[in-house]
Amino acid sequence: MKHVIIGASIAGMTAAAKIKQLSPEEDVTVLSAESIQPYGKMSLPYMLSGMTWFANCTLPPVAGVDVMLNKQVDRIDPGSKTVHTTDGEEFKYDKLLIATGTSPVIPDVPGAKLSSVVGVRNVGDIEVIRKRIEESSQKRVILSGAGLVNAEVGDALVKLGIPVTYVISSDRMLSQIVDREASAIIEKSLTGLDVELLKGEDITEIQEKGDALEVRLASGKVLMGACVVYGKGVRPNTSFLKGTGVQLNKGIVLGQYLETSIPDIYGAGDAVETDDVLLGEKTLHALWPVAIEQANIAAANMLGMETPYPGDVLRNILTVFGQTIFTGGLSTHDEGEVYRHASDGEYRKIAVKDGKLRGFVFVGEGAENPGVYLRMMKEKTDISSMIDPVLYGTVTHADLYPSVFKVAL
Ligand SMILES: Cc1cc2nc3c(=O)[nH]c(=O)nc-3n(C[C@H](O)[C@H](O)[C@H](O)COP(=O)(O)OP(=O)(O)OC[C@H]3O[C@@H](n4cnc5c(N)ncnc54)[C@H](O)[C@@H]3O)c2cc1C
Repeated sequence: MKHVIIGASIAGMTAAAKIKQLSPEEDVTVLSAESIQPYGKMSLPYMLSGMTWFANCTLPPVAGVDVMLNKQVDRIDPGSKTVHTTDGEEFKYDKLLIATGTSPVIPDVPGAKLSSVVGVRNVGDIEVIRKRIEESSQKRVILSGAGLVNAEVGDALVKLGIPVTYVISSDRMLSQIVDREASAIIEKSLTGLDVELLKGEDITEIQEKGDALEVRLASGKVLMGACVVYGKGVRPNTSFLKGTGVQLNKGIVLGQYLETSIPDIYGAGDAVETDDVLLGEKTLHALWPVAIEQANIAAANMLGMETPYPGDVLRNILTVFGQTIFTGGLSTHDEGEVYRHASDGEYRKIAVKDGKLRGFVFVGEGAENPGVYLRMMKEKTDISSMIDPVLYGTVTHADLYPSVFKVAL
């Protein structure tokens, strides 16, 4: 059988490997829009800071799988089961996997298309930032948005000794994943660093001024910088699916077997919307481990092994500006009974409803054992008797065993 996979990142390459592992005689072709071998995008901030380099972040090749570079898919014809690329090539498939991930949203303001305005998603974006810092007489980098990616990018730049300015429309950092109390701790950790935080602001215009950028804000304030990095959210790469009948919402809407609404076309990774066990609805998870699990399950389904996807939960873990932050489920707003514990730079908040963990935010020392909290949420463990250890102590997988025994008996 002929399998075509669009996108050669973690979802695409994992699916390719799984298909070959389960059925070595299958014909697998992976089409990549990029011109370099597949690599882990999670490592981009670490490549920027110099903590690692590209050769350390490449994904292993899969024996017998053809990864075709510079193959940007611009059209699919589900009737003839053909994938078309911008260079005029055609690829026939029996089963197709869409693993095209997302692209950063860059608002349509004057100057946003300048080559020194980027969102971080590819190695090329890191190269632009590095080159601009090297060549511009202005060293400051202007970061629009202070979400997950820009928090990591800012942290990487500070490690390099580069001054940064955050321009954020909300009134706090990481507002999409943490509550006010946690934002305040993270912002406090910027003290003494060359980090400027401009809240309730937005970029309205960017202009080239010699070897630098002049950036005008809504308030009228003007900043000078080497480059602008947008981190104001991402958009699934699905434009080539228009007119195919593949159901789209924010991303590609998948069923229980990670199938799209069109026969023999599957999806995995950041581009897709799947069940969230906590929210009880489909959502974009956009997480590395989720992409891997979806890719493995989609591969099995492409081979006809009916394997349902159990769904997942939203979570994030990151270490920036000396703080480790771990969040999960409903972390920005309160639902059910909310318990908080704050002490000396450490913060823990959990939201519990009917004894079940609905969301949490941990900052500082308590941000450990992530797997335990994910398991509590996914398995809907009754944690009524564990509130104090969760807030003040350490909880391990072993602490969850009694609930397993209760189910078994
Ligand atoms: C800076 C950064 C930090 C991150 N940190 C974390 C983290 O700490 N933890 C975590 O869990 N996740 C993190 N993520 C998210 C994680 O990297 C993604 O969940 C993961 O990369 C998704 O993999 P994917 O294969 O679905 O898509 P992607 O990695 O986005 O890859 C999609 C590929 O498809 C290609 N493509 C797109 N359109 C086409 C087309 N039309 N034709 C051909 N090819 C196409 C793209 O060029 C790209 O190579 C981070 C992401 C970034 C950018």
